[in-house]
Amino acid sequence: MMKKLLVLLSAVLILSLSGCQNSYRNELAEKSDTLYVKKLDLKEDFIKGVDISSIIALEKSGVEFYGYSGEKTDIFQTLAESGINYIRVRVWNHPFDKDGNGFGGGNNDINTAIEIGKRATKYNMKLLVDFHYSDFWADPGKQMVPLEWKGLEIDEKCDKLYEFTKECLNKLKEAKVDVGMIQVGNETNKKLCGEVNWSPIVKLMKAGSKACREVFPKARVAVHFANPENGSYPDYAFRLDYYQLDYDVFASSYYPFWHGTLDNLINQLDEVSDKYGKETMVVETSYAYTADDSDFFGNTIGDGGAFTKNYPFTVQGQANCIVDTMEAITKMKKGIGLFYWEPAWITVGGKNYEENLAIWEKYGSGWAASYARGYDPNDAGRYYGGSAVDNQALFDSTGHPLESLKLFNLVNKGNPVELKVDAVEDVNIMCDINGEIVLPDKVNAVMSDNSKQAVAVKWNNPDYETYRSGGVAKYVIEGEAGGLPAKCYLSMIEYNFLDNYSFESGELGKWQVIDHKKCDELYIEEKKTDSLTGDFHFHFWSKANDSIDFDLEQTVSDLKEGTYKYAISIMGSDGGQTDIYAYVKINDVIVKKASAGIDFYNVWHEARIEGIEVKAGDKVTVGIHVRCSGAGNGAWGKIDDALLNSQS
Ligand code: CA
Repeated sequence: MMKKLLVLLSAVLILSLSGCQNSYRNELAEKSDTLYVKKLDLKEDFIKGVDISSIIALEKSGVEFYGYSGEKTDIFQTLAESGINYIRVRVWNHPFDKDGNGFGGGNNDINTAIEIGKRATKYNMKLLVDFHYSDFWADPGKQMVPLEWKGLEIDEKCDKLYEFTKECLNKLKEAKVDVGMIQVGNETNKKLCGEVNWSPIVKLMKAGSKACREVFPKARVAVHFANPENGSYPDYAFRLDYYQLDYDVFASSYYPFWHGTLDNLINQLDEVSDKYGKETMVVETSYAYTADDSDFFGNTIGDGGAFTKNYPFTVQGQANCIVDTMEAITKMKKGIGLFYWEPAWITVGGKNYEENLAIWEKYGSGWAASYARGYDPNDAGRYYGGSAVDNQALFDSTGHPLESLKLFNLVNKGNPVELKVDAVEDVNIMCDINGEIVLPDKVNAVMSDNSKQAVAVKWNNPDYETYRSGGVAKYVIEGEAGGLPAKCYLSMIEYNFLDNYSFESGELGKWQVIDHKKCDELYIEEKKTDSLTGDFHFHFWSKANDSIDFDLEQTVSDLKEGTYKYAISIMGSDGGQTDIYAYVKINDVIVKKASAGIDFYNVWHEARIEGIEVKAGDKVTVGIHVRCSGAGNGAWGKIDDALLNSQS
């Protein structure tokens, strides 16, 4: 019964909110000859939002934005024409030092938010007000209390938060800004405003929510968390319910390269809808269209690094990523929309880092200015600078809209252009320096609908002679596949037919030990300083005289007919009289030997055997025989790095 009532209520809510669609149209923004877009069944009031909190600071910095015809255009108009119906803006309490210098990140106090809100309203887009309740960035890593509220008891802090929220919202109301949603906190993963326990955290949120209801009774109240991959959302929602927070939307950040799978996101948020009837949404997302940086300040994702790259860094890959995220929201039981984070945070246009830094410092158009160091010494104070997301913008570095921005229009009907190769994966191959070099004739390609295909590749004049004669070396071979450049990273290596040749598995594997006189110690040891390479080696030691007498060997079958070489290294001491040699057995008969010895710690001796003739079907065994009489203290030694390879 209760559930039925909720469904009914939400239906009424959806009806009352329709008309979200803005009326700015531009046919150039509604067609694309190149961008593939999958069709989604979106409700008319599906939120297609962007957070452009840095925009005022960027404009003050001289950054210009252009429309689809190439003329300078108010970015709010271009966004509206692109189907965007909601603008999000962050609000910090007081992002300025005592001399009035801005902390950066747009210097977003309430006055900046009002300016952004008025322009959003002018272009028929609603505003989501994102209170951080901090003087600067609040995220899972830090939720610092505003300086003015520092040291306050929780009830007093709640009063301040209530008054601040109410005052800010009243200012927006007076400015006739169309506020549709309000966030009480930003990425508040069990932290908010300096508090780290749920009871005071929710108490603060309740104070914010109360102010929202009073000033904008029709607006949605949202909470915002990050890291769905940690599986904590059901617990968070339980706490909010337990402490009786009045809210409508449970929102999540979803950066696909960090935040797990879309299926997991759906499961996490659906559990919140199922249990507490809340609407859900992705309130921050973004993806790179290029690996290149354009403002001389490093980006959060680019070439290399530990993150998930499910889409190529192309305009098409970026669009596919956003559409797939939207699709996931349509699959949620109560998903209402998505906000793209900072699609316009591009370079301020200086010729070098120093020029840009001066602009970021003056106008607050970088992620942080040095003036934030008094408030946030450990993060902003150290790493202040420009935009870390300029390669994730929906505008190019000169302020022109990327084709991907059109997806917000195109997604309703779909845009099934002919599929083409969108990106080609690099090829990494290793070749035996004594073997045949075979470059692949196909490479993996990502198509414009993100499907994968193997496509033919043509390598540009591979220089086989150089690769063959250059020994162990690396080469990059350029080519072409599906109309795009292809790259093959070729590593010429010394191939090794032996398993676990440097004992790095920590276990014997295919090695066999034949211990003739019961050595005291005979095993694989992990000790980098005593290994020739890596962390492991084969160790021996025995106290009694003449008690070291063993063979360590490995058998290899299926070798191709040909000539081979074999080598193994040993070091040790206190051996007394020794009989140490590497050997090769063919079909269980020793055919070649090479002697070695032990004398000093860390002086390695390599025993090497060449010209091993192998016929097809031969059983080849390579090993080392060690016998030491000992010099009183008991002999010891280490064996490492065996090699069996063909010989050119
Ligand atoms: Ca950058």
